[in-house]
Amino acid sequence: MKKFSLLALLFGLILFLAACGGDDTTDGGTDDGGEEASESEGGLIGVAMPTKSSQRWVDDGNNMVEQLEELGYETDLQYAEDDVDKQIEQIENMIVKGADALVIASIDGTALTNVLEKANDQGIQVVSYDRLIMESEHVTYYATFDNFQVGVLQASYIEEALDLPNQEGPFNIELFGGSPDDNNAYFFWDGAMSVLQPYIDEGKLVIQSEQTEFEQAATMRWDGNTAKSRMENILSSSYSDGETVDAVLSPYDGISRGVIQALKGVGYGSGDLELPVITGQDAELASIKSIIAGEQSQTVFKDTRDLAAVAIDMTEAILNGEEAEVNDTETYDNNVKVVPTYLVEPVSVDIDNYQEVVMDSGYYSEDELE
Ligand code: BGC
Repeated sequence: MKKFSLLALLFGLILFLAACGGDDTTDGGTDDGGEEASESEGGLIGVAMPTKSSQRWVDDGNNMVEQLEELGYETDLQYAEDDVDKQIEQIENMIVKGADALVIASIDGTALTNVLEKANDQGIQVVSYDRLIMESEHVTYYATFDNFQVGVLQASYIEEALDLPNQEGPFNIELFGGSPDDNNAYFFWDGAMSVLQPYIDEGKLVIQSEQTEFEQAATMRWDGNTAKSRMENILSSSYSDGETVDAVLSPYDGISRGVIQALKGVGYGSGDLELPVITGQDAELASIKSIIAGEQSQTVFKDTRDLAAVAIDMTEAILNGEEAEVNDTETYDNNVKVVPTYLVEPVSVDIDNYQEVVMDSGYYSEDELE
């Protein structure tokens, strides 16, 4: 009898736990939205993110899910680990599952034309998230940061750190670009070159490697190891005769950390060989730590909480048949149409303001810095 009531209790407990389920985030990055969302009338939003290997996209995904669930939506969050076919497959699955809208941060911006056609056939509209989806008419809105300004902030930091307007120089600089399949990479580069090119032209900034063009400087899939190898090659081919690197334009924190490894490998950062001025982007935790340690000089903070809020406003406007707020209707041409865009402001961060910008704003906690 005693044994029976224990079993009954256990059975009851299992039933209770099963009823509370629905929070089973799988390793593949699926989030079923939890019980609260699944009871909601808000609909299912598919969120496709490029990779978990960079912290910013993890933050983006988490912010999207958190904010969407608060509004009562179900979410299907997927990461494709920089595999283009995998991302297409994930988006196809979202369509099959009956997503009501899609929010997509693409890996290769030119590879989604067919799958967006399929979404459109099912009446599903798309918000392009952070990166512009190219070659498709089926992109309703684009939520991003002022990408040209990101490059301006990086290059202006170098300009100021080397005091270029007042110094004769010449200073040695090496340039790194982002992934050639990401439209943003060209905006970052153009923004940076709008500041640096006049100094290069007058000979105040010298690129010893002579790799001056975006195509030579580009870093496929923003990969830090690719950047590290390229920097190692440049150091051995162009800096073995006593020249030293004074600055490195880097468009992304993962690239910056790869470049720093290459520089440290040949002695920069020890003795009297100082590390060059080196920029970055995303204010990733590892790079904030690197800034505090005096290695990376700068990064660009993009508040992913704000970007998620903009993307969600756009999604809700779509679902309610309303117009979303945009602040740019000219710049972002995806080769088929100019996509109505909302640009969020990026912020330059270094040792002097990281506390205020990323700590006091609650983006990171003191514990995370340990
Ligand atoms: C984003 C950057 C990011 C880069 C690498 C770009 O599309 O705009 O914030 O650093 O991708 O992930």
